Amino acid sequence: MEPGFQPHQAEAQVARLQAVFSRQRAAWAAAPYPGREERRQALVSLREALLRHADEFCAAISADFGHRSAHETRVLELFPCIEGIRHAEKSLKKWMKSERRPVSKWFMPASNTLIAQPLGVVGIIVPWNYPLYLAIGPLTSALAAGNRVMLKMSEFTPRTGELLARVLSECFHEDQVVAFNGGVEVAQVFSSQPFDHILFTGSTSVGKHVMRAASEHLTPVTLELGGKSPTLVGPEFSVKTAAERILHGKCLNAGQTCVAPDYVFVPEARLAEFVEAAKVAVNGWYPNLPANPDYSAVINERHRHRLEGYLTDAKAQGATIIPLVEGDCSHTGKMAPTIVTGVSDAMKIMQDEIFGPLLPVMTYRNFDEAIAYVNAHPRPLALYLFDYDRERISYVLSHTISGGVALNETVVHVAQDDLPFGGVGPSGMGAYHGKEGFDTFSKKKGVFAQSRVNGLSLLRPPYGKTIETM
Ligand code: NAD
Repeated sequence: MEPGFQPHQAEAQVARLQAVFSRQRAAWAAAPYPGREERRQALVSLREALLRHADEFCAAISADFGHRSAHETRVLELFPCIEGIRHAEKSLKKWMKSERRPVSKWFMPASNTLIAQPLGVVGIIVPWNYPLYLAIGPLTSALAAGNRVMLKMSEFTPRTGELLARVLSECFHEDQVVAFNGGVEVAQVFSSQPFDHILFTGSTSVGKHVMRAASEHLTPVTLELGGKSPTLVGPEFSVKTAAERILHGKCLNAGQTCVAPDYVFVPEARLAEFVEAAKVAVNGWYPNLPANPDYSAVINERHRHRLEGYLTDAKAQGATIIPLVEGDCSHTGKMAPTIVTGVSDAMKIMQDEIFGPLLPVMTYRNFDEAIAYVNAHPRPLALYLFDYDRERISYVLSHTISGGVALNETVVHVAQDDLPFGGVGPSGMGAYHGKEGFDTFSKKKGVFAQSRVNGLSLLRPPYGKTIETM
């Protein structure tokens, strides 16, 4: 149970979400196909409400984290939310348009059409690390597709969850969009409702529970999960540039990002140069890091202990721990960006998704060793390659499998409105953002329409006359 959430509150929340589910279903049955203007209006009021309450969201998220700069929340959460909604508003007409499909000559002059229909009542389960963006991103896709939506916020971000519930209630009736807070017991009841689709963002282990619960109703799921995103620095790429871009992606939200670079491969001879460049970059961005307001805290004590445990375990097994800044962070709720070298697969830090500001850096003599390592491990959510060599880029793209790729940059591929975002295997299934988000929350219904003139006489008995024509 999340801090401050009492058993009677959980029971009340469960009862309420079941009642709201029934009401959304009934409302859906009464009005199953919102038109384009209605959907656009829903998106506009969502966008305006987010802008109206932007400062409150920055404050709530910072309070939930212990500290996160308002600038980081604006750039990493509000900006992509607003841009994603604008993109949906502009694209609605194109996305909703029915699509003609060819008819085989045997059935002419009939016609085939693909129409996109809303699924109905959908559920969205939200993690704590980007509580606004990971609620609003899927909500945008679901509303564009014309659905009714219930969201379940994370127990680790209760202030943000409360605020979002209130803001949504300003623009939507609860039979259209509603957000719930609550811990695991609320989440379990939530994921066992007979939704028409569930989009879950969170850990791979909880994703399995959600999929199991959804399977009871054969509810389709989109799972946006995590994993260890590898980062490869090519043999000739500038180590300084790579270190800056990798550390930037790692330090955003103190590494608590599903697509943060999880570990890095650099050429063996350039390890020391990489570490030095990383130190220079991080100290340049965050002078006096423990007191620096631009650097986020780790969400809670439990996660700080988990991360410290990785360092203790790695050190005990012979790894070298290299904090990139000086000064004690322990009293601030923050954790210093730290490189770990000399790691092995026996260490916890190389088994779990790190989800914090720790960065194992490994080395290769031959670039193929790095590719072989990536391919010997579970398929990741993101893969980063720093290289300008066309042949090597093409080789890496065709010989590795990951949810997405960014070349010569980290993290920002997520913010591309027109690129689908989603994992593969243990890092997820399905995708959303842009058109793929609309499709995820739509039923693409194939419609065959017979013409006035053709009665498919060739398919009717008496048989025998058709076979020679094939
Ligand atoms: P989590 O899996 O612990 O929790 C996510 C949500 O699931 C929360 O709302 C929680 O209340 C709910 N939940 C918990 N137990 C449940 C159950 N038994 N049934 C149904 N729901 C349940 O994840 P987290 O710690 O909040 O987030 C961190 C994880 O999320 C990391 O693994 C990270 O990589 C991943 N993540 C993925 C993406 C992505 O887009 N792929 C984005 C952000 C985070």
